Amino acid sequence: MQIKLPLTIILAVLTRFAFAQQPCGTYEYESYIGSKFKGFSEALDLTRQQSANAMNRLNKTENDSIYQIPVVFHIVWRDAVQNIDDSLIISQLKALNESYNHRHKDTAKVRSIFKPVAGDARIEFYLANKDPLGKPCTGINRVKTTRYDFGETTNLFADAVKFTSDKGVDAWDPEKYLNIWVCKFTYNGTLAVSAYAYPPVNAKFWNASLYKPLELQGVVINYQFVGKQNPNDVTPTSIRERTLVHEVGHYLGLRHIWADKSNCTGEDDGFKDTPLSRSATTSYNITKNTCNEGTGDKVDMIENYMDYTPYPYTIMFTQQQIQHMRYNLLNLRSKLYRVKTDLPPPPVYANISVAPNPVEGNLKIIFDKEGTYSMNIVDIIGQPVADEQFSIGNTFEYNNPIHVASGIYYLSVLKDNEVVLKQKIVIK
Ligand SMILES: [Zn+2]
Repeated sequence: MQIKLPLTIILAVLTRFAFAQQPCGTYEYESYIGSKFKGFSEALDLTRQQSANAMNRLNKTENDSIYQIPVVFHIVWRDAVQNIDDSLIISQLKALNESYNHRHKDTAKVRSIFKPVAGDARIEFYLANKDPLGKPCTGINRVKTTRYDFGETTNLFADAVKFTSDKGVDAWDPEKYLNIWVCKFTYNGTLAVSAYAYPPVNAKFWNASLYKPLELQGVVINYQFVGKQNPNDVTPTSIRERTLVHEVGHYLGLRHIWADKSNCTGEDDGFKDTPLSRSATTSYNITKNTCNEGTGDKVDMIENYMDYTPYPYTIMFTQQQIQHMRYNLLNLRSKLYRVKTDLPPPPVYANISVAPNPVEGNLKIIFDKEGTYSMNIVDIIGQPVADEQFSIGNTFEYNNPIHVASGIYYLSVLKDNEVVLKQKIVIK
């Protein structure tokens, strides 16, 4: 179907992209969806107002709980380079968790003026362990396609990737999974945006019969921007693995901290703890201060995940952003999460990986260092099924048959009594 965009949007888009590739297309996507579906923009505004008014009403349990979100990565590929390695997906998941739990290596670099408002969102992400039919899975869904590029000529987006009928792949129940489509998409052959997300819009009074938003819910990301040190990412201003941190922020209802406007008045991102700003940050500049707020004026919060500051300088969410995301998760994506309990633990990842997973025949673990390791495998209720000590030589590989029944297990690898890998494995 050809989409006719209003001229203002086309001009805004072309003007923006005459200069550089940008990390995110969510704002433009909201305009696009608004032009496609009558009532969308009004409903989105209403959703934001409702969330902003309600976000401080979370009770203690709602504030303190850790919420866990199952993620499925749909890797939709034609050329091998697009079929990114499991290790990139695992490192991406780690990056999401480090950021949403405010414990990555750069958190100490939050400037002292912003330290009091930087926070831990207490949201965790794990690879889905059951597919929509209830079968064990790895949360990585690889789909070979005949389509090399999912980009459109009439817009910046790639929603065809969300449909099997368009050579992409249908979403897994978007109310129960965070769907992340990884593919190649350009705008007329040029990389225009790294990724974009669908905002939460299931607010009260939201008339879903006007459009079909559910099947579009999730994030679409170019394959270059998934994972840590993705070898395909050659964009100097890229925000790298924090691209997805940013997009999931949109998916949970956050806006850019400059609210996609070029002045200091009117609509803001909705949060008092992010200083006013009137432009995206495209290079690291700690003196950037685009809006004078009078008494107590602060510089722009260029370290916020919802800015565009190149890697590695986006490093924090604020307390109010966190409250907003948690409120939206509880109220607008209420079937998506589970409350974290003691079992089973979500995987913790290191630079060690199991490939392939599901495991068939041999269990193969790739290491990054030689040495003596031990491993144990437990089933989903924590019962041990295997325990072994072994040495890894210069092949950096453990590759041996595994004799346990088909099913889902948790593998822990230890070195000097410290867990260096904890991962869900599926034995075929
Ligand atoms: Zn964005």
